[in-house]
Amino acid sequence: MRLEDKLTTARGYLDDPFRFEFDADVIGKVTLPDGRQGVLLAETYFYPTGGGQEHDTGMLGEAQVVDVFVDDAGNVVHVVDGEVTGRQVPAKIDRERRFGFLQQHSAQHLLSAVLEDMEGLETISAKISIDSPTTIDVPLANLGEHDWLRVQDRANALIYADRQIKSYFIREPEIATVPFRRPPKVSGQIRVVEIDGVDYSACGGTHCTRTGMIGVLKILKSERRADKLRVYFVAGRQALSYFQNYYAILTQVARQLNTNPEAVAQNVQRQQEQLRAAQVELEALAAERLPLEAKRLVATAEPFESIKLVIATFPDRTAQQLRALAGLLQNEPGMVALLATYDGMKLALAVACAADTAVSASELLRKHLSQIGGRGGGDARLAQGGGAATEEQWQAFFANTRKFIRESRESRE
Ligand SMILES: [Zn+2]
Repeated sequence: MRLEDKLTTARGYLDDPFRFEFDADVIGKVTLPDGRQGVLLAETYFYPTGGGQEHDTGMLGEAQVVDVFVDDAGNVVHVVDGEVTGRQVPAKIDRERRFGFLQQHSAQHLLSAVLEDMEGLETISAKISIDSPTTIDVPLANLGEHDWLRVQDRANALIYADRQIKSYFIREPEIATVPFRRPPKVSGQIRVVEIDGVDYSACGGTHCTRTGMIGVLKILKSERRADKLRVYFVAGRQALSYFQNYYAILTQVARQLNTNPEAVAQNVQRQQEQLRAAQVELEALAAERLPLEAKRLVATAEPFESIKLVIATFPDRTAQQLRALAGLLQNEPGMVALLATYDGMKLALAVACAADTAVSASELLRKHLSQIGGRGGGDARLAQGGGAATEEQWQAFFANTRKFIRESRESRE
């Protein structure tokens, strides 16, 4: 990061990232293009968005600071949601938010250094976040679970070692004397953030003063993003709240399974096996039940002209199950059966016609499905199809069945 010619507002946070309260000297106010008010200070401890780290929030007098950014002239603009009156006002920075960014940002430098050192993976970009995992993009690489664990172990060992983190400015001619992880492509004065013996980065962000302050670093996952690999991790307090949240979920699941968290995976596997066995048995029972069901439907058949007519609708049958049932009904003398199922959106229909009825199942199916623009096929004895239907279409679906049967018989005679 280059600071020389754009450093208009004095930036106190660079030297003291733990100053959360200060007396602010108001030196100017601006109305932003979107109508919001911006306040300029002689010196600020509010961090403005930049370098992958988001701005601070807090209070300026009675007004809330909702955004902080650097304008084209190099001023730090504090966007407020109310009036700031007086030349000197008390300023207060949201500690939790700043501390969260500070932990994540130092953790990012540390992990970037370890990834480069152990795996030769250079950090292309990073996004520091306190609400979701922080991400580092590196070139595509094939790292196994064991490699990620080694990287994670090394990063955490450096946290336990409690190395010093310091920042200082150098001038351009001194660049060659600093072993930068990524040489800065800038001129003028450069801020160096150094993790003792581990990492030298050109960075204008806020950082922990020792690695121990990062607390813990947990790599969550890595995934391919176009030609890059994105690494997700959490650190510090965010890592704790992640653990807290996941542990609460795991404990709840364990309670529902009547077991302890350690046995959840085994327990779920056993239940899945039991479920599969139960499904197989259920299908066998359903197949056994089919002839009984067919017999019952025959008993409820309504005489229509010289045929026995069955119109049956089921709330939850698969197309396969309907077909199996229709297959039995087609052997019943005089039978014309229409079996349907509708789930509120999709309709499935199976039609069975006994050979002695002179009614064509495929024609009867086609006439019904033409009402909803559905598709299907079959032969004169057995036909099957379906399509999307509205509730109204479903209600009116069998209104013309008797007319269709007559037409089908006439056309076959
Ligand atoms: Zn940085």
